[in-house]
Amino acid sequence: MDRIVNTSMSEKESVSFDEFLVLISQHYTQDEISKIIRAYHLADQLHAGAFRQSGEPYIVHPISVSYILAELVGADCDTICAGLLHDTIEDTEITKEEIEAMFGHDVACLVDGVTRISKLNFSSKTEERMANTRKILISMATDIRIILIKLADRLHNMRTLQYKTLEKQRENSCETMEVYAPIAYMLGVYRIKNELEDLSFYYLESEVYQMLCEKMEKIKENSESCIEEMLDKIDCILNDHGVSSEVKVRMKNIYGIYHRLVQSRKELGSGRSFLTLDKELDQKLLKIHDLLSFKIMVDEVDECYLLLRPIHQAYKPFHGRMKDYIASPKTNMYQSLHTTVFGPSNRLVQMQIRTFQMDQVASFGLATYWNIHQGNAREKMQEEFKKRCPFYQSLLEIDREFVDNYDFVNHVKNELLSEMIYVYASTGEIIGLPKGSTAIDFAYQMGKELGNTMVSAVVNDQMVPVNYVLQKKDRVQIVTDPYANGPKLEWLNQAKTTHAKQMIKQFLPK
Ligand code: MN
Repeated sequence: MDRIVNTSMSEKESVSFDEFLVLISQHYTQDEISKIIRAYHLADQLHAGAFRQSGEPYIVHPISVSYILAELVGADCDTICAGLLHDTIEDTEITKEEIEAMFGHDVACLVDGVTRISKLNFSSKTEERMANTRKILISMATDIRIILIKLADRLHNMRTLQYKTLEKQRENSCETMEVYAPIAYMLGVYRIKNELEDLSFYYLESEVYQMLCEKMEKIKENSESCIEEMLDKIDCILNDHGVSSEVKVRMKNIYGIYHRLVQSRKELGSGRSFLTLDKELDQKLLKIHDLLSFKIMVDEVDECYLLLRPIHQAYKPFHGRMKDYIASPKTNMYQSLHTTVFGPSNRLVQMQIRTFQMDQVASFGLATYWNIHQGNAREKMQEEFKKRCPFYQSLLEIDREFVDNYDFVNHVKNELLSEMIYVYASTGEIIGLPKGSTAIDFAYQMGKELGNTMVSAVVNDQMVPVNYVLQKKDRVQIVTDPYANGPKLEWLNQAKTTHAKQMIKQFLPK
């Protein structure tokens, strides 16, 4: 059994070509490997004589980016090639056409897409950033691989941020926190999301970061016997039930811990500098229900449920923390069973039980769908993205609605990248909406007709008006009347999402 405790920020800064080759040779066919090596040679030749601020030859950067793409995203061959070449159009003499002639249409479009994102030049700094952000977001619509390369590029730049000026460090960290980490979450690429958050947090709140790190080190040390004991027990359970599996142990990422602490504190209405002063912090940390998690991966879906009973027999479950994300996947397609139990000496430990395939989705997110051994996998992934990810539809609507880059970026931030609440439709379906959404937003999210014939709503069995502000876990049912007069003018102010507002505007006379 493979036993790993993940620590945050353990990833090394840069990788050598030899390390890259070792990884590549495990995952790609011979033909693909030779194409990747060709891309490397071209990039190496084009970037020759250029250096990074760290003093290393520039080529180290594209190699590291492609390494991340192979390791954390499980990318296809063309994406790996594009990762190696991602800075060549911008920084060297080569053109898109030349890349196309050598590596084909897809690689050329990917490199060109990444270049467009970073090439814009506006006079004002903020305007540049806004326009840039818009490009990044819209690029997802044409080919998600572009944004995956951009995420890998940002991750490597964040890993090597110590060589930049303090001002740059802050600026990049803010942007990463506001834009890139939420996008990684939307796409379900958790490993990139967690690392981006921790790196940004390290630069933005280094004192708090360091303090939490030290505390976590201690907790980790103190958890060793508990972990050993539980692993043995789980081993026995798995053997008894003849289930073959892999178990991994992980600690929550530092920013995730901070976020939990601030959240629990927010309800008490307190400031954010409390952490360094809080004497009861150790106690509070131990109360975080998923501070320590066991991930149990099995072959079959049924085995996930089968294991739940003996685990709850061995360790008492913490009431109310059982989640069935297999039956109701998260909007980023994450699936798993979650339960929190009382471990040895009453330590709270989270159990995540899922199949190996579900774990693939949890690590690679939507990228899992491109399965490197299937030719049309990319189209499938893109389709899947359109179908399953409400994020994508909303993005295009916001793009159509706002001409001004500033408005566009603000709306995306407020609606798509900010805090979401999840409510239940009467069918049990989970609907994600930006915080502050009303029953009107919900109705239009479910369908145009439903919105246009809405007269009121029933939330948790209580009748509420259409402008009721939804709370998390509300059970929502829309009350309609076929003879209703349709949306009213004031609904425009009562709706939060651009989608609902657009639908209302369509209906109202000019
Ligand atoms: Mn780059």
